[in-house]
Amino acid sequence: MKKKSNLIRPLVRELHAYVPGEQPKIKGLIKLNTNENPYPPSPRVLAAVKAAVDDRLRLYPNPTAQALREKLAKLHGCAPENLIVGNGSDELLALAVRAFVEPSKGLNAIFGKQADRSKATVQYFTPSYSLYPVLADIHGAAKNAVPLKLDFALPSVTELKGGREWNFSAALSLVTTPNAPSGCGYKTSALETLCRAQKRGVVVLDEAYVDFANENALNLALKYPHVLVARTFSKAYSLCFQRVGYLVGHPELIAALDKIRDSYNVNGLGQIAATATLDDLKYYRANFKEIIATREWLSRELTELGFRVLPSQANFILAAPPSFPAEDWLQKLRDQKVLVRWFRAPEVKDFLRITIGTPAEAEALVKAVRKILG
Ligand code: PMP
Repeated sequence: MKKKSNLIRPLVRELHAYVPGEQPKIKGLIKLNTNENPYPPSPRVLAAVKAAVDDRLRLYPNPTAQALREKLAKLHGCAPENLIVGNGSDELLALAVRAFVEPSKGLNAIFGKQADRSKATVQYFTPSYSLYPVLADIHGAAKNAVPLKLDFALPSVTELKGGREWNFSAALSLVTTPNAPSGCGYKTSALETLCRAQKRGVVVLDEAYVDFANENALNLALKYPHVLVARTFSKAYSLCFQRVGYLVGHPELIAALDKIRDSYNVNGLGQIAATATLDDLKYYRANFKEIIATREWLSRELTELGFRVLPSQANFILAAPPSFPAEDWLQKLRDQKVLVRWFRAPEVKDFLRITIGTPAEAEALVKAVRKILG
């Protein structure tokens, strides 16, 4: 009998998969580790989903999420052809890699011996969303990870041209804005300068957390044919469970992505939940305000307790704790029934990433910190 591993492609055998945050089922645990929204979906959304749970579950959903795309088009002042909906924005990021980036190995066969490696390059800043390198690896593409500045600020185009090894011809550049896990917001004007400087290739502005930020860059996706903006219903709209995200951009790029997605990539209840969400935006906007207020309160409290808290424009903060290594804090907080996230990556290993929960959860966290500090 042959070894089973021989049945698996070497690329997959050697792949380091993405590690999602833990979803523990521990009673009484305060869960601040995966940037979920502490508030439930609006009552109207819950009612719409419940009303849809009947014998229609045996039918396939709308293959293009047409009703949702039409509503999103109205909201963003564009056409449904500017939009593709995905099984979470993660699916769309993966589709973008498959649609716009050549696998490194195929490059010479397609473009000859002098092939430009840029065509097989996925590029992103570090630290940013840790899924990006995994998507590149799955596809067998080259990675260009370019460090952000020391304070996690976005380097200017001049800085990027002056030795930071940013590739202005990379097939795909993925920019998390506001950034994760730093929470750092980027100015739309700076993003526009970066997009304009990109000579070739597609730029995806991943705005998963943008509803908690001061500004957004959606218009760049409608202004520049090589720019896409990714959004999700997961964070701001309390729908992680339903897996709905979308991309906005030029109809030709959207059509290319549409060609390679699964026929029924977005589940029916997810489509219904997301569509109902757009009918009740007032409810969500009130939640954003509450989360931002809690974020500012928690940042102040932790700063007073000796944490170095980075200014955040997201629904989480990145904070370097005092007294013990951040990894130890992870366990100490867990012992106090508070779960946060710690990343091993060298740029962020001294920090904890803390999701903004309800005011009561934030108070419980502060209480736990006080207890740990004695
Ligand atoms: N982008 C960023 C920066 C994220 O943090 C996440 C969530 N982990 C996503 C995209 C994907 O979100 P979803 O697939 O739930 O839409």
